[in-house]
Amino acid sequence: MKIVHAASELFPYMKTGGLADAVGALTVTFAEMGHEVSVFLPGYRGALSHPLAAGAERRFRIKVEMGDESLSGDVFAFSPSKNLTVFLVVRDEFYDRRFPYGNGERDYEDNSDRFIFFCKAVVETMRLADLGADIVHAHDWQTALLPLLLREAERRFGVTLAMKTVFTIHNIAFQGLFSAACYPRTNLPDELFSMDGLEYYGQVNFMKAGILFADRVTTVSPRYAKEIQTPEFGCGLEGVVQTRVDDLSGLINGVDPAVWNPVTDKLIPARYSASNLSGKRTCREELLRQCGFDADFQGPVFGMICRLTEQKGVDLVLANADFFTTGACRFVVLGAGDRRMEAALGKLASAWPDKVYLCPKHDEAMSHLIEAGCDYFVMPSLFEPCGLNQMYSQVYGTVPIVSRVGGLFDTVRDADEDQASGTGLMCAPTAPELRDALERALRLFANRSCYAAVQQRGMARDFSWRTAAAAYEALYRDAL
Ligand code: ADP
Repeated sequence: MKIVHAASELFPYMKTGGLADAVGALTVTFAEMGHEVSVFLPGYRGALSHPLAAGAERRFRIKVEMGDESLSGDVFAFSPSKNLTVFLVVRDEFYDRRFPYGNGERDYEDNSDRFIFFCKAVVETMRLADLGADIVHAHDWQTALLPLLLREAERRFGVTLAMKTVFTIHNIAFQGLFSAACYPRTNLPDELFSMDGLEYYGQVNFMKAGILFADRVTTVSPRYAKEIQTPEFGCGLEGVVQTRVDDLSGLINGVDPAVWNPVTDKLIPARYSASNLSGKRTCREELLRQCGFDADFQGPVFGMICRLTEQKGVDLVLANADFFTTGACRFVVLGAGDRRMEAALGKLASAWPDKVYLCPKHDEAMSHLIEAGCDYFVMPSLFEPCGLNQMYSQVYGTVPIVSRVGGLFDTVRDADEDQASGTGLMCAPTAPELRDALERALRLFANRSCYAAVQQRGMARDFSWRTAAAAYEALYRDAL
């Protein structure tokens, strides 16, 4: 198949979260399976200067209609591996920035223009490059207009393409909601600015367009596919999602073994496998050392890696701060984001420097060291479309403590409830329930053989992208 992906993040060129990992791994896996894959990414500063993009060449000069204006851009392309072409849409005014969506304090004011332009640039490049796509797969709100813009382009040029469109919701909490003033920039027909179109309580909702107009809608776990049909998790779009239940599926992400594999991981001080965990002990000691803790400490080390946001349950962790400061354990957090949360965690770490450590930045190497060096990974998300770290944890023999939501529900089993196949500890996303799970973690850790059994079962699980990609492949074929 000829498959086109469009996304605002792509590992390793631009990443803020799981979206980058998912699109990165999916495109590489499909290319390896012999499909012809093109993937579009905005030409961010970091993407253009990435060593893998060194061979990028300007392929097209494009003009994009934005309301009454015509804006130009350049499309660069390079091929990082067989069957895979990365297209970078370059327009410095929009993308020559360090961060993809905002400066950390707030979102960029011109985000609607930036991503309308990007979607239109994809449509135009597909035409100029004559990509002849069978499937066009758009991810999250930033590219949610793409399925509709493609149908509009067909109408404009009087053609009907055999191509099918797929839209994946990686997180329904981010919808791309903008003032109605941006609607004319889409050049879509006025009648689509209505309840049955992009309009959402007087504003424009990009994600709504993706859900309504793609041929197939997917999200990143079966549980989340059910949850987003409810008011509790649908973030106001549950009614829209309900209209597409017949075309909706939940396909769990995988783990990229080229990046996340303790047997080959070059970012950790020692490599290890399920049959020989001595390297994990070395990683643990190095982690303790880097955090300024006593490297001989024998109790459990808890780790957490996430964007510091409400979603990730940081407040539930803060409500249980005394567990980490008074208990016989260590706690290391890697994460940046919300200032209040960062400050609260920072305060905890300075008050208890021999027990709690905060690394308040994005740090790829540190994230690998935490996954490898910890005994437990803490992920009490309030909602979690798929989640990757609970899978990485199992692969690295680090027992995950997760809430029973979304992809966490689908990928972890509670070891107390299911003593034959449990791979982690689970709780409801509340502070007291998390406390209970943390206490259970201490008891489990004290029973070395039981802990080892849970750890081994996690390491034996198969989270390969081959399985995930096969599910997408079946979906594509079915759509076609
Ligand atoms: P989300 O996409 O909601 O942020 P996921 O668990 O799906 O959550 O994916 C998060 C990804 O981002 C993981 O690969 C995680 O390791 C990584 N990550 C998050 N915060 C950091 C950080 N501060 N440093 C390095 N990696 C991080």
